[in-house]
Amino acid sequence: MASSPNIVLFPFMSKGHNIPIIHLARLLLHHHATVTMFATVANRHFFSDSLADTGASIVDLPFPENINGLPAGVESTDNLPSMSLFVPFANATKLMQPDFEQALEILPNVTCLIFDGFLDWTLESTSKFGILRLAFYGWSYYSMCVSQDVGMNRLLSGPESDDEPLTVPSFPWIKLTRNDFDEPFNVREPKGPYIDFVMEQAIATAKSYCIIMNSFYELESQFIDYWNNKCEPKARSIGPLYLAEPSRNKQHHHQKPTWLQWLDQKLAQESSVIYVSFGSQVEISPKQLREIATGLEESKVSFLWVVRKGGSELADGFENRVKERGIVVEEWVDQRAILGHECVKGFLSHCAWNSVMESVCAKVPILAWPMMAEQHLNARMVVEEIKVGLRVETSNWSVRGFVKWQGWEKMVRELMQGEMGEKVRKKVGEFGEAARKAMEEGGSSRYTLNQFIDELQALRGNSSKLCC
Ligand code: UDP
Repeated sequence: MASSPNIVLFPFMSKGHNIPIIHLARLLLHHHATVTMFATVANRHFFSDSLADTGASIVDLPFPENINGLPAGVESTDNLPSMSLFVPFANATKLMQPDFEQALEILPNVTCLIFDGFLDWTLESTSKFGILRLAFYGWSYYSMCVSQDVGMNRLLSGPESDDEPLTVPSFPWIKLTRNDFDEPFNVREPKGPYIDFVMEQAIATAKSYCIIMNSFYELESQFIDYWNNKCEPKARSIGPLYLAEPSRNKQHHHQKPTWLQWLDQKLAQESSVIYVSFGSQVEISPKQLREIATGLEESKVSFLWVVRKGGSELADGFENRVKERGIVVEEWVDQRAILGHECVKGFLSHCAWNSVMESVCAKVPILAWPMMAEQHLNARMVVEEIKVGLRVETSNWSVRGFVKWQGWEKMVRELMQGEMGEKVRKKVGEFGEAARKAMEEGGSSRYTLNQFIDELQALRGNSSKLCC
């Protein structure tokens, strides 16, 4: 019998990219693979804490220092003062190549490297050492297929208005606008450092053995089939990776954080709570934050709001006025424990992919308010395609418009108490069940993973033949 595969994982330095890779490590370890994770020095503890009970090894790499324009000591995008520094940050990782290669050289018998799509420069290293490489992407097939189709057909160079509906040629039931795309993809002739970064990613991905996706067949089968029939390299859906992680409620047993105690209280009072969180890195203007606060206050719905930046901008007395039914938290929370809490019946989310998958797994419907990256596409998928959520109403009906407090109030109530909310709650329950089944023995993701591990075992020793 072939020995177990020795898999090296290299995540990009941001929480939304670290967390699914940690889950992936766990999943591979369950399947008897040996796992080595690369982490920068400041991020190491995040991995070692999460994987302490496993046999994963962690290899430290120094993050480049003295990079023009980047503050010293920042090794994760959530600590950047502004996301406008994203491209310089991502480009700085290229300077890790010599240390990465030195470390890779002494790792014994590597079967393959699974690299985060943002670390495209690892292509050169794996080619040098003849190591099989696989790209990991933590986004949906929906956004991957739709973006590709829109790009190939140069759809965004057509419309006069940013809000004019456009039909996606390969998926004609999907209507998008230019505003569903971030700068610089939303201009007629996209160019500049961001576009160069994306092109480098596309090349490294095209030269990889396959793509690993954190999704599952039953969630977006049409898009999965489209990708695997029409595009290269083929993608493997082995998610939701979130379900590879054991429930961590027990860890909170002795000393529950305040917000968890607060949720327990709400459960005892038979209140339903909406969880409000916009991930680890988005920036929200003080004006918009205040409208969210008023909307939540006026909705009379109980809420747990994680404000990562700008909490001090909330109106004076807000927390005091809502204290009977709302709590504002400024620390890092255990989103799994919140979404899994029995009293949490809705999630006001920015629709980054991890949050969407986690909400589906927890069977909690979403109120979508996308802001950046591919979040607008995910929001369309959530609301229009798989119908597990509703969308907040902007004041000018543009998908990027400002949302006044009335828009928040109305849709928070609708999600938590309305008929439309009930409909999407039922639907997310069905997908949540399908997600669980996909990961169980006999399920689609489990089947794909088993096949994938067998394939890696068969390839062991032959990887150099498969490197492009
Ligand atoms: N998260 C968390 N606690 C927080 C904020 C975020 O556990 O206080 C986790 C969340 O569960 C998810 C990840 O961080 O796994 C954020 O990824 P996502 O793709 O949702 O958003 P991003 O931060 O990348 O915008």
